[in-house]
Amino acid sequence: MKMNKKVSICWFRRDLRLQDNTAFYHALKSDYPVIPIFIFDTEILEKLQNKEDKRVDFIHRTLKKLNAKLQENVSSFFILNEKPLEAFKKLCKLFDIQEVFANHDYEPYARKRDSEIESFLSEKIIKFHTFKDQVIFEKSEVMKPDGTPYQVFTPYSKKWKEKYAFSKPRNYPSGKYLGHLYKDTTFHFFSLAEIGFEETEVQVPELQIDEKTIKNYEKYRDFPALDATSHAGLQLRFGTISIRYLVELAEKTNETFLNELIWREFFMMVLFHFPKVVEHNFKKKYDRIQWRNNEEEFKRWCQGETGYPIVDAGMRQLNKTGFMHNRVRMVVASFLTKHLLIDWRWGEAYFAEKLLDYELSSNNGNWQWAAGTGCDAAPYFRIFNPKEQTKKFDPKLKYINIWIEDSQYDLLSPIVEHAFARKRALEVYKAAIGKSG
Ligand code: FAD
Repeated sequence: MKMNKKVSICWFRRDLRLQDNTAFYHALKSDYPVIPIFIFDTEILEKLQNKEDKRVDFIHRTLKKLNAKLQENVSSFFILNEKPLEAFKKLCKLFDIQEVFANHDYEPYARKRDSEIESFLSEKIIKFHTFKDQVIFEKSEVMKPDGTPYQVFTPYSKKWKEKYAFSKPRNYPSGKYLGHLYKDTTFHFFSLAEIGFEETEVQVPELQIDEKTIKNYEKYRDFPALDATSHAGLQLRFGTISIRYLVELAEKTNETFLNELIWREFFMMVLFHFPKVVEHNFKKKYDRIQWRNNEEEFKRWCQGETGYPIVDAGMRQLNKTGFMHNRVRMVVASFLTKHLLIDWRWGEAYFAEKLLDYELSSNNGNWQWAAGTGCDAAPYFRIFNPKEQTKKFDPKLKYINIWIEDSQYDLLSPIVEHAFARKRALEVYKAAIGKSG
């Protein structure tokens, strides 16, 4: 017979906050003291080639901060560093677990992982409760009248807003119930080195969700030199802010900003219903595109050496900081897929490695949007002209001058001539998909 004390587990994943956290709230309201856990999943970490990964460092730093708060309440995180199933086997040996709480995660890997954990726990007669937390509407909550998923953003967002108007989500004041934590401050807190990573110079983009920025959002958001967007991406990715809070603010303040948050949910919904997009074009007919996939050109694009200043400035910002302004993300993605005819999956993978705010659904959705292969994508014949984009959005070259510092840059000749590249892209796309677009 087990002598261990009965406990509940709250499994933190991409919801790294103690306030307004749905699963944490429900765990704290359960009948048992709560042990918050985090698993540094070796299945994921082993795939990261670069051991100076800023995102892993960010997670570690965030956990440390949260742990200090837990310690004020005579508690602490139980951190594990293995595959989730092994982690739960270990936990079951150490504690008499009654219930496990977690927030939903919609990515294909996470869904598989969670169903494996659910079966394991159910064999042990342990309840696994999961909750919606990282979105306002999930899975099949916003569907077309015929019950199928939307494939076009505008009607999706209309339905989303209608639904939000009459079913605003409540907040979950989890922070109020920290007294219900399991009292133990002696759990081992893994250092970054112990999980095989190194500290980085991670500069977390400062959140700009003050009323002024959000009010003026659509006025300034397209000008990369002004840097007038919210920088909420990373925080939303790891759940250090609550989407309920952000949407409430957006709804009160600025519809364009709200729409962007709805784009995020749109792409999550697309990924949930059409997980094939991870590897395939959403629209099958684009499978016939004859990508050129020139490795040398890809390398120049990655390094910011295409000879197109706006493209190169963007790639240099990404390489240096892990962030790139949205307008410039669209330009560099269009350039890679149309000017260079390189498969969007190459660009997507590069962004996935570098972006601090990397989010599978948004990255994939936006890359397929830029390549014209996605649902509700830019039409294939829309090819951004880097010079025109510069004239419109960086007329005084302020953004370009921030990121391109080398005096030798002007000697770099353009990797391909614009008019030629445009014509070539149109021909290749047309040959693949016919005139229907
Ligand atoms: P803001 O403009 O302040 O927007 C607020 C929030 O709305 C963002 O944090 C994000 O959660 C959401 N949002 C804004 N634009 C979009 C969009 N087009 N699609 C989906 N959600 C959006 N966003 C990611 O979060 N992760 C990615 O991996 C990602 N990859 C992208 C790749 C390409 C090729 C492109 C063109 C865009 C990508 N985006 C991605 C969308 C967008 O560029 C970023 O969300 C935005 O630049 C992040 O900065 P911000 O938080 O200041 O955004």
